[in-house]
Amino acid sequence: MSTAIPRATLFVVATPIGNLADMVPRAVAVLQSADAIAVEDTRHSGKLLQHFSISKPLIPYHDHNERDAAERILTLLQQGKRVALISDAGTPAIADPGYRLVRLAHQHGVRVESIPGPCAAIAALAGSGLPSDAFRFHGFLPAKQQARCAALQGLASETATLIFYEAPHRLADTAHDLAAVFGDAREVCLARELSKHYETLWLTTLGELVRAIDAKQVEERGEIVLVVAGAAEAVAAPDESDRVLAILLAELPVKQAAALAAQISGAGKRELYQRALALKDAD
Ligand code: SAM
Repeated sequence: MSTAIPRATLFVVATPIGNLADMVPRAVAVLQSADAIAVEDTRHSGKLLQHFSISKPLIPYHDHNERDAAERILTLLQQGKRVALISDAGTPAIADPGYRLVRLAHQHGVRVESIPGPCAAIAALAGSGLPSDAFRFHGFLPAKQQARCAALQGLASETATLIFYEAPHRLADTAHDLAAVFGDAREVCLARELSKHYETLWLTTLGELVRAIDAKQVEERGEIVLVVAGAAEAVAAPDESDRVLAILLAELPVKQAAALAAQISGAGKRELYQRALALKDAD
């Protein structure tokens, strides 16, 4: 297998979210071999790069210059250069700049390579104890309460596990809003300071989290991910539909009974057909 690194590639490189020992060796190798490195903050990334003895031209690439900087980086790539993209921490393009540049590279036929590594959302989910077969990453909720509650209302019936990033000074307000919209009983995992000395993973309920925050038992500092259980799956059929179905099933074949029950109750025909089969089986 060849280990030669092709030219003209945009490398999307994940970096640690707090613990430098999480820097993967391939990330170091790619950064060492790059012609230039696009960074969110030159001072911040400068320290990381210095730690790994990497000295390369740095190109500022952040929320405020994303469009212009992406064009500039594309020009370098089109000249055959290898450019690596990193963010302040974790995986670029995940609640961080990067998406625009990566898309531009694809659109211009530039090779893109993604170097996997730390990501706070995935580390939190993996350590949360909440179902991970289906999850929805939401990133940061709006800072203003009205907009935040509206966003949460829109997620209230989502059955996949939800992942939010949150700033420590908003933890209390967000926890209160989560409990108000999703209910006190919903499970939540508070993931704080992942990979760092004071790492915390606390699986509890929204009600208990709010109580602990109000009692000042939760540190409102550090970096935070909230992993929230999804809504319970809707019950297969409400009782009234079952009653109607049972009456009709006594007289009619399953398909006809389901169709009539759907007309009477307004529930979905397919859903009632499945339910009718289950009732017949149970009979
Ligand atoms: N791109 C990053 C990633 O892959 O996770 C996320 C960048 S986003 C601007 C920063 C947010 O990620 C923080 O406000 C926090 O919610 C979360 N975060 C980053 N590092 C973390 C850590 N060590 N522990 C918990 N949350 C962290």
